Amino acid sequence: MKAPLHGKMMEVPLTVSSLLAHASRHFGTTEIVSKRIERDVHRYTYRDCEKRAKQLAQGLIALGVEAGDRVGTLAWNGYRHLEAYYGTTGFGAVCHTINPRLFPDQIAYIVNHADDRYVLFDITFAALVDVLAPQCPNVRGWIAMTDEAHMPRMSTAASSYEALLAQHDGDFEWPAIDERCASNLCYTSGTTGNPKGALYSHRSTVLHAYGASLPDAMGLSARDSVLPVVPMFHVNAWGIPHAAPLTGAKLVFPGKDLDGKSLYELIEAERITCTAGVPSVWLGLLRYVKENGVRFSTLDRVIVGGSALPPAMLRTFKDDFGVEAVHGWGMTEMSPLGTLSTLNCEQAQRSADEQRRLREKQGHVVYGVDMKTVGASGQALPWDGVTFGELYVRGPWIIDRYFRNDVSPLVDGWFPTGDVATIDNDGFMRIVDRSKDLIKSGGEWISSIDIENIAVAHPAVAEAACIACFHPKWTERPLLIVVKHPDLDLSRDDLLRFYEGKVVRWWIPDDVVFVDELPHTATGKLHKLKLRERFGDHILPPDQKVEQ
Ligand code: ADP
Repeated sequence: MKAPLHGKMMEVPLTVSSLLAHASRHFGTTEIVSKRIERDVHRYTYRDCEKRAKQLAQGLIALGVEAGDRVGTLAWNGYRHLEAYYGTTGFGAVCHTINPRLFPDQIAYIVNHADDRYVLFDITFAALVDVLAPQCPNVRGWIAMTDEAHMPRMSTAASSYEALLAQHDGDFEWPAIDERCASNLCYTSGTTGNPKGALYSHRSTVLHAYGASLPDAMGLSARDSVLPVVPMFHVNAWGIPHAAPLTGAKLVFPGKDLDGKSLYELIEAERITCTAGVPSVWLGLLRYVKENGVRFSTLDRVIVGGSALPPAMLRTFKDDFGVEAVHGWGMTEMSPLGTLSTLNCEQAQRSADEQRRLREKQGHVVYGVDMKTVGASGQALPWDGVTFGELYVRGPWIIDRYFRNDVSPLVDGWFPTGDVATIDNDGFMRIVDRSKDLIKSGGEWISSIDIENIAVAHPAVAEAACIACFHPKWTERPLLIVVKHPDLDLSRDDLLRFYEGKVVRWWIPDDVVFVDELPHTATGKLHKLKLRERFGDHILPPDQKVEQ
């Protein structure tokens, strides 16, 4: 066979530093705005950011950090954290973002497993660092992201980030790096077992940033003012800190105040057009705007992912506030973007009901991701919107292995997500459940997500979780655990009646337990494991007549 003809194009590596270099050169005066821990607002530009990221790189190199070394961060969304994203990866080190909401023991495990050389931390986490430091003997230094004047009192010998930067002038060229080298490291939250590391490469990160920016993904552009509410310690804030410099969008960081009032005021003050985060933060924002009778003047779309977007929330955003809620799905192992629920021309001509049904799903893939659902014997399932099976994915920004683990998680080249889903004729995927959260009643499956979505559509329900509860005849039956709106009345029977006509009879939960609050994981999802431990043996009322 004839040898293929090679293209005659430049081989420019896809490096993370090139994203910031591009923004600094071509959108040099575009702003990056941060609410600081100190509660003031900090403003500078992409050009300033690149200079300081270079100062940080010089500082870390002077401290002996080498290409391939991991540098941890324990920080909120802010400009110094952004500098850390680029000041580490820019010279070949790996930016390891650590979720501070995990238990200290888990964090210590992660820091040690990653073998972090240095850890940069926001001063809010000073006490946490004092707990971690004795457990992490291989960390050479802990660097507080503040100036000398604001250094916290600590038992750990920490140094000041600003003092480190002040020793360097930023006169530094980002070195050429092989695009297959590691750039970022994120651990899954490990609700079961130890956390596992997803080690992204420069190439996968840049490709993901391209994918995330596409019009039918987050649709970012230089006309946007984007607010990542999703934390930078949670899968790189879904890629926004990379996609914003790629597109030249203005970046706004909320710091640590994620309550409805703080978010609303920031959205208005900085003329935010696009924001992204998990459903629980939007509950707070929507409550604030409703209670105060205020409107959004610039907000165009909210990317909602991490957990299922309740249909009631989608409707409220659209019908009451004219804001598009775009449902997205992904996971740490996928950098994280997989699917988004934007419509094509033909779908946008369908009836309002049909459009809504599509938008409620987790959506279509972004180029770069392929997906399929498989049955029990590994066979590919039809795309009929009804048949469900385990969701498998593959693509250039999906992991091949976990960090420091030689066992491949792949099955025939595909990554099994652990989610159970349907795919319809339009290529829209719907997550039925996480496989471990599905409720198996008498051998038939019930989707806990569907049961929760109906509950939160009831005006008196603030939040709801559905778990499997032991049943002597059916093995498992659904139990609903509910947080009521404080000023509204709701009884168990009212809520169970609300299900009639919305699901088949045997899907209706057997009982309802009212609680003051529901436990959440470190990434803001319902902590089903904890709920199962607490309520899995709840005694169900005897008069239940389930007919399947
Ligand atoms: P973890 O919470 O385990 O750390 P991730 O943050 O990577 O992991 O979460 C990935 C998982 O979150 C997915 O596999 C899926 O179960 C769930 N998830 C993410 N987005 C959605 C969504 N839009 N709807 C339903 N589930 C989602």
